[in-house]
Parts: sequence; C-alpha cells; structure tokens
Amino acid sequence: MTRVAFIGLGNMGGGMAANQAGAGHQVRAFDVSADAMARAVSTGCQAAASVAEAVADAEVVITMLPAGPHVRSVYGEDVLKNAPKSALLIDCSTIDVETARDVARQAGEAGFRFADAPVSGGVMAAEAGTLAFMVGCNAGDFPAVEAALEPMSRATIRAGEHGAGQAAKICNNMLLGVSMLGVCEAFALAEKLGLAAESFFDIASKSSGQCWSLSTYCPVPGVGPQTPADRGFDGGFATAMMLKDLKLAQGAAAQVGASTPMGAQAEALYALFAANGFGGKDFSAVIQLLRGRLSELA
Ligand code: NAD
Repeated sequence: MTRVAFIGLGNMGGGMAANQAGAGHQVRAFDVSADAMARAVSTGCQAAASVAEAVADAEVVITMLPAGPHVRSVYGEDVLKNAPKSALLIDCSTIDVETARDVARQAGEAGFRFADAPVSGGVMAAEAGTLAFMVGCNAGDFPAVEAALEPMSRATIRAGEHGAGQAAKICNNMLLGVSMLGVCEAFALAEKLGLAAESFFDIASKSSGQCWSLSTYCPVPGVGPQTPADRGFDGGFATAMMLKDLKLAQGAAAQVGASTPMGAQAEALYALFAANGFGGKDFSAVIQLLRGRLSELA
C-alpha cells in the first residue's frame, strides 16, 4: 500500500485516481470542483480539503490538470512547499515542454524527484487502467515512476530527460492530427470520384496509404472497425483536445525554430471546425468539413 496524493479529478483524473484506489493504495484526492471530489470519494479515494493536505504525507504525488498554468501554480504554490522531500512527483497533464522543464527544475532544486508523464488514450482508457504513459525523467527514477503508474497503465515508456514525455506527446498528436486530415481528404476525393468508401478502405489499408487513422480509426461510418464515426462522432478524442495539442506543438515549433507547415495547417483546419461549434465532436468528424456536409453533424 502506497500513500498517493491525486490532484485533478476531472474526466481523466477521476478514473485514474479510482484505479490507484482499486489497486489498494491509500489515495488522498483533491480537486477544486465539488462534483469531481464527490465522484472520487465514491470510487474509494479519501477527500482532502486542499492540495497541501493531500500531499502532506504522500509517497507519490500525481497531478492531472488542464494546462501549463495550473501545473505551474499547483507545484509552485502548494506541492513543493508541503510534500515530504521523499515524495515522487508525477505530472500526467498535457502541457508545454518549457513549463514541464521549469517545474522539473524547481522540483529538483527543492530536493524532489519529478517526472512529466502525459498519456495517450482517452477517458475510457483512464477508467479501464489502459493508458500509455510517455515519461520524461532521470533514468534512475524511471523504475519508481513505472511502478507508481502501473495501476493506470498498459504501457509506460521513458522518452528521455525532463520534458521529453511532453515532447513525445505533442509530436505524436501533431502526426495524428495531420494523418487524420490526410485520410479524411482522401475519402472525400474518393467519394467525388465515385469510388465506394468500402473499396477505398480495403485497398488503401493494404497499400502505402495505410496508417492508424485509416485502418483503426476510419472517419467514415460503416467502414472498417467500429469508431466514433459509427456513433455520430460522439465520444472518442474531442476536436477541442486535438486543437489544444496542435497549439502546443506550434508553440514548441516556434520556440525551437522547427518548420511544421502541415501541423500549422492542421491547427487552422481543426480551429475552423471547432469555431463552427464542433469542438466537442471526435476529431475525425472534420471529414464533414472537407466534404462540405457540416449540417449532417448538428
Ligand atoms: P478536465 O477539465 O476534465 O479535468 C481537469 C480537472 O482539474 C478538473 O476537474 C478541474 O476542476 C481540476 N483543477 C483545475 N485546477 C485545479 C487546481 N488548482 N487544483 C485542483 N484541481 C484543479 O480535463 P481532462 O479531460 O481530465 O484532462 C486533463 C489533462 O489530461 C489535460 O491536460 C488534457 O490535455 C490531458 N488529456 C486529456 C485526454 C482526454 O481525452 N480528456 C486525453 C489525453 C490527455
């Protein structure tokens, strides 16, 4: 049994904290939302009145927060001042690389071990304990990080030093956003050319156009395995979340002078789609924008 402090019990953190409690750990949980707290208590976590109280005698601190500013303030103002120095600190939020490195540096200067460990997999994987974690940490700390994440994980991979987990996450999701647009564009063209979607799927998934966005997450309903397209593009990975990750990728690219024109185009297209009111739809629904059939999504 490990004493785990879990901060941020939203769509993702709620299921993750429940899996820590389900594994027999003592989970002291905190969220600024009363609803999130009530849900955590119903899944076996103990309610803490503040971040300071949650981390006071923690062996492991896990955070799952919306964005960089939340992570900076929760660590800077609460965790580093109140957790025992022996605690292992793991931030699973998706944030910018620079903030992840800054927080790691501050944690290191204060005498803590820290890891950035963003996840691949959505709310269902968080609930099922089947997330994939991409970890940035000192090599010597990785076994402890992997063990701490185990109740929530199907795979935990060390990407490199601090910030490398966030770098892997935003590069992967930029690739995903771009590849999905390519697949959507190809289906939209095939349709206009009178080529049946099933035929194109069968051929492209055995040809050089094959990729995850096509074969596993096809944006056309009734084609290939079951995907969000088969349930009106509900559930899955929200366009707003994809847009957040693409913005992080563009911010990082600007900082290091990387050329990412496809990522920039993807950000613009998902932003347009979200601005039309579809930020809550699965990101593969962007096919309706390219088909000129947005009205079917309403
Ligand atoms: P969410 O908004 O549902 O949850 C975030 C929680 O943090 C909320 O409950 C909020 O009240 C809480 N919070 C905010 N500030 C706080 C503070 N100072 N102290 C304590 N709690 C605080 O978001 P989510 O969907 O759970 O996503 C969390 C993170 O996971 C994000 O960084 C997101 O990019 C990443 N992520 C999400 C998904 C997904 O499918 N939802 C997938 C992969 C990664």
